Amino acid sequence: MKIGFIGLGNMGAPMAANLARAGHKVSGFDMATVTVNGVSNARSAAEAATGADVVITMLPNGDILRAVAAEIIPAISQGAVLLDCSTVDVDSARSVAQDAEAAGLLPLDAPVSGGIGGASAGTLTFMVGGSVEAYQIALSLFEIMGQKSVHCGTSGNGQAAKICNNMILGVTMIATCEAFALADKLGLDRQAMFDVVSTSSGYSWSMNAYCPAPGIGPKSPADNGYTPGFAAELMLKDLRLSQQAAEASNADTPLGQAATELYRAFVEDEDGKGRDFSAMLPRFEGKRRS
Ligand code: NAD
Repeated sequence: MKIGFIGLGNMGAPMAANLARAGHKVSGFDMATVTVNGVSNARSAAEAATGADVVITMLPNGDILRAVAAEIIPAISQGAVLLDCSTVDVDSARSVAQDAEAAGLLPLDAPVSGGIGGASAGTLTFMVGGSVEAYQIALSLFEIMGQKSVHCGTSGNGQAAKICNNMILGVTMIATCEAFALADKLGLDRQAMFDVVSTSSGYSWSMNAYCPAPGIGPKSPADNGYTPGFAAELMLKDLRLSQQAAEASNADTPLGQAATELYRAFVEDEDGKGRDFSAMLPRFEGKRRS
């Protein structure tokens, strides 16, 4: 396929490189000067999009996505797929999809999980919103860039799935970290705590697969000085998107709200920026009950 790829950052660059390596003709554009193996450099986003069968965007946020979409939609051939893999707010995803559909394009929102490692290894998971027809066209690309894709329904539903998942993740990571900090103060050995919880009703991905306590459970960023991994500021971004969506849809999410405020304080007022999101554990260790 002929692919336009806009946004060649930490995630976009390795994703575009994987598509080129698989034999697709990829024309890339980024505001910053970037060179990606096998990807030709377009001079503008519109140039990268012109004549493409699929145009992929991997951008920082909803406002930038809306601006880029307004520029490229008129340049994209009718019937082509506009595939946004960024994590953005549900409203921006739905608004861009509406504009794309009005122009005769097939929009998909397909945010990912798996991080930079997954983007490089081609093992991302895609959560996809949009028509079945568009999903079928993009499926072979998801299979190159990732190991799993789930079609979640109409436009915006990929973003909805992503923020709901990450709201659970933020809340369970905090719960796991505060429980470890309490266990420490009660004199309960961390290994014993892990052995019990990971096989009892308190188990979760945060405890079992990504244990925030160094030296306990499978290898995780905690074993590497809390170098991300999944940075606390990216968790904060996703939690904020969850609260924006909760507000817009009048959903009651008290724990999501509390998790957002804790990650906000950690990233903006404390030393959380640049650390893995599981570094909530040393944060709690250093605190007393207020
Ligand atoms: P990044 O900042 O490294 O990359 C974004 C790129 O977009 C940059 O290279 C920037 O120059 C470019 N850009 C910005 N405005 C542009 C414009 N108008 N035209 C063209 N290019 C423009 O970010 P990233 O880590 O690659 O993340 C991309 C998206 O993926 C974000 O929405 C992020 O939330 C999501 N995501 C990131 C991770 C992760 O671990 N990094 C994991 C899952 C999802």
